[in-house]
Amino acid sequence: MRALTAAEIIRLWETAYRFHAIDQALSILQLVMPEQSRDDLAALPLGQRDALLLSLRQVTFGDLLPGKSHCPQCGETVEFELSCRTLVSNVGRAQQIHMTRDAYQISIRPLNSFDLAAAAGADSLQEAHDLLMRACVAEACYQGQTIAPQTLPPEIKKDIAAMAEAADPQAEILLTLNCPACGQQWQSVLDVASILGQEITARAQRLLLEVHLLAKAYGWVEAEILNLSPTRRATYLQMVTP
Ligand SMILES: [Zn+2]
Repeated sequence: MRALTAAEIIRLWETAYRFHAIDQALSILQLVMPEQSRDDLAALPLGQRDALLLSLRQVTFGDLLPGKSHCPQCGETVEFELSCRTLVSNVGRAQQIHMTRDAYQISIRPLNSFDLAAAAGADSLQEAHDLLMRACVAEACYQGQTIAPQTLPPEIKKDIAAMAEAADPQAEILLTLNCPACGQQWQSVLDVASILGQEITARAQRLLLEVHLLAKAYGWVEAEILNLSPTRRATYLQMVTP
């Protein structure tokens, strides 16, 4: 996978406010994977989408991904560093799985960006959960007859949530963290799409500052400055900044 260019980073940042994070993640991938349609990318299981975003992050901003979380017990800030390469190598194969409970047979498929987008439009958390549950049920049968997922009994719906995780083990990357101050252990979800969005914002703002300084010093236009390799840009910046 190729890295995002400086001009692409600025364009993504500039238009990000118009999109939900789910769409923004697809826009980012479409730039570097133009051979894939947006619908193809939206239909990828979430674990696979995040693996692509992590690979893109690695080639664009480097392998080590810094993060922080706050201890739920004492509030201490815990900082950590993750390797994008390692996270990508942990991504398991997403697949449709089947479960049988009493007289029910259910096929469960991995969730994708279409499902997340539908759930994001829900009016309540309960409705979002319901939408995701229904989305991941590819087929539900009772005594051999197809039934609607919403008619499944509550105890089966609960099992479906667990099975959906098994269908795409990396759809949610969970980190286990330890507090150095009080010893508390907790889990935190790594939201790859939102982290990448924040990094693009930070890099775009830095690039614009660099454009400002170099344009002022040399009279170059924005496109010329963004087309410089990072090494050249950094070298010129050292010459114009005290
Ligand atoms: Zn603590």
